[in-house]
Amino acid sequence: MQGRVAIVTGATRGLGAGFAQALGEAGASIAVAGRDREAADTVVSGLREQGIDCDFFATELTESSDIQKLLERTIDRFGRADVLVNNAGACIHAPALDVTAEDWQHVMDVNLNALWMCCQTIGRHFVQQKHGVIINIGSMSGIIVNRPQWQPAYNASKAAVHQLTRSLAAEWGQFGVRVNALAPGYIKTDMSPVDDPRYRQNWIEDAPLKRYGVVEELAPAVLFLASDASSFVTGSVLVADGGYTVF
Ligand code: NDP
Repeated sequence: MQGRVAIVTGATRGLGAGFAQALGEAGASIAVAGRDREAADTVVSGLREQGIDCDFFATELTESSDIQKLLERTIDRFGRADVLVNNAGACIHAPALDVTAEDWQHVMDVNLNALWMCCQTIGRHFVQQKHGVIINIGSMSGIIVNRPQWQPAYNASKAAVHQLTRSLAAEWGQFGVRVNALAPGYIKTDMSPVDDPRYRQNWIEDAPLKRYGVVEELAPAVLFLASDASSFVTGSVLVADGGYTVF
């Protein structure tokens, strides 16, 4: 990834911070996008200590003007943009009859509408330069329905991310732009309380590997999709879920 520049949304913590780390270790410069400045400072200083070239760009991803600014600031700072990892996301647990209009809108705004705006704004740049890679972080929730917690908005948003990925891959392959999705299973982060005993049976015992994953196990999949190692891969949804979706 030497000489390449990757924009990672939601890189202030969780999976995004791990993806930034893996891409940086492989030589890429990293534009860290998110809202939490304090968390971003910790991520950026950690990456810089390892010699990784990176910067934080405060971005409210539900604002299209912020996304345009993110692209412009990335190019100003690093001179180019080659990879977009659309990782930022939100999840609300609630049975369908209890989901409020605000909660539905919030999940769709972050998981689908913001991701779409990032794809369109930064994808336009990739199409113009006839080169670029987009990795959309979907979820196994776009394939199966999680339990025991109900999360209909999240599940619908991630299924849409997978199909949007295929749609963009179909359109932009001719311009040298690859678009793939990664569909993780349960990975330990703030979003996934994998140690909560209430979830042990359904989340852990029901999975073939009988455990949750950690970001260090997931990040190589992003590196694969971001790099030339996957030069013939586009329109794919790569499932990394400890086997959860086989049942
Ligand atoms: P976290 O809740 O730990 O992190 C979410 C990240 O998204 C934060 O960095 C946050 O940044 C950013 N973010 C959220 N909303 C916005 C916004 N409006 N504008 C800018 N940034 C925003 O989640 P995970 O790391 O667990 O999840 C990352 C992705 O992986 C998500 O898309 C999630 O759906 C997906 N995923 C996660 C799984 C898991 O088990 N953990 C399983 C399957 C998929 P900030 O705090 O700075 O606003």
